[in-house]
Formats: sequence, structure tokens, C-alpha cells
Amino acid sequence: MNSVDAYIDKVKEGDVVEIKSKNGVVRVRAKISKNIREGVVFLPMHWGKQLQNDLNRANNLTFTRLDPQSKEPDFKYTTVSVKKYKKPQEKIVVIGAGAAAFRFIQNYREHNEQDPIHVFSKEPYPFYNRVLLPEYVTEELTWEQLQKIKEQELKKLKINLHIGLSIDKIDPIKQLVLDSEGNEYPFDKLIMATGSRAFVPKDAQLDLPGRFTMRNKTDADRFKEYLNSTNLAPETNT
Ligand SMILES: Cc1cc2nc3c(=O)[nH]c(=O)nc-3n(C[C@H](O)[C@H](O)[C@H](O)COP(=O)(O)OP(=O)(O)OC[C@H]3O[C@@H](n4cnc5c(N)ncnc54)[C@H](O)[C@@H]3O)c2cc1C
Repeated sequence: MNSVDAYIDKVKEGDVVEIKSKNGVVRVRAKISKNIREGVVFLPMHWGKQLQNDLNRANNLTFTRLDPQSKEPDFKYTTVSVKKYKKPQEKIVVIGAGAAAFRFIQNYREHNEQDPIHVFSKEPYPFYNRVLLPEYVTEELTWEQLQKIKEQELKKLKINLHIGLSIDKIDPIKQLVLDSEGNEYPFDKLIMATGSRAFVPKDAQLDLPGRFTMRNKTDADRFKEYLNSTNLAPETNT
């Protein structure tokens, strides 16, 4: 679209715009140029199928009529309105507060500051680097060094963080999650970033002293406590 039209309509390069005609609607990213006349917009044809999205089809806007004799299709131009697209607000629920959840929230907030995001972590500690738990056990790193995000930065992400609460039930029909205290939270989009758990072979006899799985801070603290109780020198422990 022309840069003067874009200025008047408060559309910036790359903004999603909704183009409407008498026949239908498309939603595409705006490209702004001085090489197109004011009052005229141009939309490339034939990408709809390739992009697998009905909202990219320029044909949504044009007429489907044919010349009755030659069957030649109508001209591909029509009168349209162009408006910056504003996504309706959506409730986002994220189950998990690990690496995947963190990256999702960061990326989402780069594009959207408005949608409410509720994050649930069944662990009491959100957003830490569990890959470094062995270094925490051997005290090469402190707990603070494992934390991915400081309180101030967390505030900027504007999330509702529910710590120490697990999501025990999902109702996909009613679009609700139920937490371990019995509270319901509705969602429009649900992100399940629940990670993994330690696999224990059947014959592993985990009940014997000094055998642990290590997936979270609580496991690491138990392991640390055990190592301390052996009173062995640190070099022997590692
Ligand atoms: C010691 C160790 C070393 C590792 N080293 C590597 C490595 O070198 N490279 C690598 O790629 N990976 C490594 N991993 C694997 C690593 O854990 C994963 O790559 C990474 O943590 C996955 O991130 P995630 O967000 O998917 O899951 P996680 O980090 O496991 O996060 C899952 C989150 O979901 C929460 N959760 C789960 N169920 C529920 C529920 N029902 N309700 C609410 N919250 C819930 C958990 O509390 C947690 O906050 C290592 C793991 C460990 C433990």
C-alpha cells in the first residue's frame, strides 16, 4: 500500500492488515511503498493454497463470475477497505515453568503484551536451569546461578505465576484447566510444556540407600543431603 495511505491508517511495514471487499476478507502483512498509487492496494495472487490459509487468498475478495460465452474469468480488481488487524484478546494458560515455557512466554510477549498469561508450575521453583543441577549438587554453582530470570525481568513478562500448583485435569470441551486446589481457569490457548520425568528400569531398586533420580531441585537437595551425610571428602563424592 502507498506510504501516505499507510500513515493515515496508522499501518506500519509488517503489520497484519485486514482487507475486506463486498465478497470476502483476507488478512496479510502490509508492505509499504511509494511505487503504488495512493488509494490503491496490490495483493499477489495464487499463494493461498501454498500457504494453506484461506485468509491469504486474494480470490476471496474478487468476483467469481465468468463471461458466459468465453468462460473468461472477471478482472481481478475490486473495491476494498484496509484496516490494521487487532487480534481479539485470548486467555493463555501455560502448564509448566521450565525452559520451553520460558521461551514461549518470551516470544509471545514480543508480539503481544495484552493477552493474560497464567503459568502453572507444580514445583515450588519456576524457571531454573535444571541441566545444571549436577553443578548445584557439587556446589560449583549456587542456586541463584541456576535461576534463568531475575524478579524484575519476570515482572516485565506480565504473567500470573501459580507456583507449587499442578494442573490435574484438562477439560478440552469447556476449555478449562483444574489445579490441585480445585480452582478452574478458562483458556483460549493451552500450552503444555510439562517436560519429562526420570525413567527408572523395573529392576533398578531405587529404595536402596544412595540411589536417586535427579530431575528437579527437590531431588538434587535430597542427593546433596545424602552426600553430606556420608561425611566423605568432596573429591571422593564427585
Ligand atoms: C541433570 C540434567 C541434565 C540435563 N542435560 C541436558 C542437556 O545437556 N541437554 C539437553 O538438551 N537436555 C538436558 N536435560 C534435559 C532437560 O531437562 C530438558 O532439555 C529441558 O529441561 C526441557 O525443558 P522443558 O521446559 O520441556 O521441561 P522442564 O524443564 O522439565 O519443565 C517442565 C515444567 O513443567 C512443570 N510441570 C510438569 N507437570 C506439571 C503439571 N501437571 N502441572 C503444573 N506443572 C507441571 C514442572 O514443574 C516444570 O516446571 C537434562 C536434564 C537433567 C535433569
